Amino acid sequence: MIGFPVKHSYSAIMHNAAFKELGINANYDLFEIEPENLESEFRRLIKQDVSGFNITIPYKEKIIKFLDEVDSEAGLTGAVNTVKVNEDRSTKGFNTDGAGFIIHLTEIVGFAPDGKKVSILGAGGAAKAISIQLAKNRAKSILLFDIDRRKSEALASKLQLTFPDCDAWSVSDVDVLLQDKPDLLINATPVGMDKEDELVFDPEYFHRDLIVYDLIYNPAETALLREARRKGCTGVFNGLGMLLYQGVLAFKIWLEVEPPKQVMEKALREALAK
Ligand code: NAP
Repeated sequence: MIGFPVKHSYSAIMHNAAFKELGINANYDLFEIEPENLESEFRRLIKQDVSGFNITIPYKEKIIKFLDEVDSEAGLTGAVNTVKVNEDRSTKGFNTDGAGFIIHLTEIVGFAPDGKKVSILGAGGAAKAISIQLAKNRAKSILLFDIDRRKSEALASKLQLTFPDCDAWSVSDVDVLLQDKPDLLINATPVGMDKEDELVFDPEYFHRDLIVYDLIYNPAETALLREARRKGCTGVFNGLGMLLYQGVLAFKIWLEVEPPKQVMEKALREALAK
């Protein structure tokens, strides 16, 4: 994994557990690279015996110009979280964040976005990746709120342009996200990572049929999820599933082998419980 910082990442834990389970002689390493060294270090690393990389904050966009090819999903999102290094050392970028989220949402949570109303807090990298997938999976509407209004407006415009059947809007008041009575509410901001972070939503607007999905996985229960559970919301999920499935997809891209999902999930849960 390439990023700055990278120490916080749980990806090495799940991928190394998968290599061990499959008897693959490989290692997932973390490379903390300073911004001014990104290109030189990346070019140095791809010459070595590497099958691929994950890219994390703050390089998911910056890495694109150093790649030989980018797949259409990543191109649309404008961000790459997975790089495949081919035998001839050429590179191709992918984004498995959005696809990992949608696999978890549809196959594990059991939520079909088709015709549904979705509200998203945040319009940064993760919101971009998941909203594109939700629109692609025919969500009826997507409401976005970001403290930086320009970001939510830009993302809403991009969604409207690319997916005209999906009603995508940027709203200027966070309460509108819930007043619209969405089927699915997603937190795509870091708000909640700090245990002291307060709830940004008015709990009055939570309704029983609501599914609440927080992309944060550490802590496992944010103030948002705690409140949603207290209010009896129908489904309450943290970001562990998205983390797992973006990793599963990346593993398949790098090694063209089906990874052991249960082993990866167990490794993640054990690490997070510590
Ligand atoms: P990001 O690019 O920094 O986007 C977060 C956005 O939320 C920024 O535009 C930020 O604005 C905005 N924001 C911050 N506080 C807000 C508030 N109170 N109300 C509305 N908007 C607010 O970060 P990201 O990469 O998208 O990540 C977002 C979250 O998703 C993080 O917690 C990350 O850990 C999580 N994530 C989880 C997974 C997973 O696999 N589970 C994968 C990717 C990301 P400013 O920039 O102005 O602060």
